[in-house]
Amino acid sequence: MMVLTHILVGLSLAVPVTVVAPSLAGPAALGGIIGGFVPDLDLLGGQHRKTLHFPVLGLIPAGAGVVVALLVPGPLTAAVAVGGVAFVVHSASDALGGGRELRPWERTNTDAVYDHYRGRWLAARYLVPYDGHPRDLLVAVLAAIPVLAVYDGPVRWVTVSALLLGTVYALVRKRIPKYVRPIVE
Ligand SMILES: [Zn+2]
Repeated sequence: MMVLTHILVGLSLAVPVTVVAPSLAGPAALGGIIGGFVPDLDLLGGQHRKTLHFPVLGLIPAGAGVVVALLVPGPLTAAVAVGGVAFVVHSASDALGGGRELRPWERTNTDAVYDHYRGRWLAARYLVPYDGHPRDLLVAVLAAIPVLAVYDGPVRWVTVSALLLGTVYALVRKRIPKYVRPIVE
């Protein structure tokens, strides 16, 4: 899925925190954005969907972060908790998309995301056939709806911008391999 979708899904994870504790809305949103975004930094170095993607082992720090935030609620613990959950949700949900290849619609590589616990690649499920597929955009829109319902200000702008960029990306996605290695997966 697009990194923009992951950011919006991360933001949607901040929504329950914001509803329960409005004073933590900002830190929760920041955590959601960072946690949704960080795994795909492994596009810049290391092995994409392996170096910074932890679909199974990521559950441990994410769970610990949630427990700490429940025990000691505050801006930092809320940000870390939402960020940790967004991080593992990003990693795990990449298995629902396409494989690691320049043209995922060709389905020549079914490796989706690396499971460090079992030491093997998880197979692509193609529920979202490839990043930038209309279904990817649909996930982004569905994630954005609750965010737009509870947030205004900068978070709303980030959300609207991500939706607009995601729409443009979806429109040009299949032409990208001709020009450049896709940086948003
Ligand atoms: Zn990813």
